[in-house]
Amino acid sequence: MTIHEALKNPNPCAGGAACTCGPGKYFVSCIDGDEYYLMAGPYATHQEAQRLRRKAQDIAESHDPRAFWMAWGVCVLPDDTTRIGVLNKFNLI
Ligand SMILES: [Zn+2]
Repeated sequence: MTIHEALKNPNPCAGGAACTCGPGKYFVSCIDGDEYYLMAGPYATHQEAQRLRRKAQDIAESHDPRAFWMAWGVCVLPDDTTRIGVLNKFNLI
């Protein structure tokens, strides 16, 4: 699965207490036109990534107001991904 394929199926479920998604590598992602960014992660559960989605967006917006206009969500990547979130890379989250 490519990242673009993963981003086509964001938010594997509605999240919250009803989440039954299995463990994986979940990321807070955002899409800006044709560009995508893995902003935070990986997190082991969908719920954890979902819980940090707003925080990641707030942090991004404080550094770049354009983040407000991007499409934010959660995606899950294959277990063997070695990617880490942009905010994690810079110790911002
Ligand atoms: Zn879920």
